[in-house]
Amino acid sequence: MSDKEVLTGGCLCGGVRYRVTERPMGVVNCHCGQCRRFHGHFGAYITIPREAVVIDAQDTLSWYRSSAKAQRGFCARCGSSLFWKGDGEALLDIAAGSLDQPTGLTTLRHIHVADKADYYAIDDGLERFPQGAPEPP
Ligand SMILES: [Zn+2]
Ligand SMILES: [Zn+2]
Repeated sequence: MSDKEVLTGGCLCGGVRYRVTERPMGVVNCHCGQCRRFHGHFGAYITIPREAVVIDAQDTLSWYRSSAKAQRGFCARCGSSLFWKGDGEALLDIAAGSLDQPTGLTTLRHIHVADKADYYAIDDGLERFPQGAPEPP
């Protein structure tokens, strides 16, 4: 992989396509109630500096204000859940499932496990945080 186009991804219908030009540390699974509803299960995210994300196609990209401090990006045509953007933050969270394969990434940790749903277990031995965890350095 080149440094300039490390990872690519997009929604189910192709209306939203993006490139990530900086390699993320890995994937973080968020088990909060908002992620669960937004994704239909827990949210698996990579975190990227906003200036390292290029959105090449966004005709169908729509944003939902999910809380007083954040918006969630999704495709208004196919319904794919794509982005989490905190107000005033220099980082963008991208749903790992929307990345084109192979990513070469691994899952790092679980966050907001205090809010996880009751129908699944977390048994992969990775670090767990009851609430959020510090952003990767
Ligand atoms: Zn779409
Ligand atoms: Zn969450």
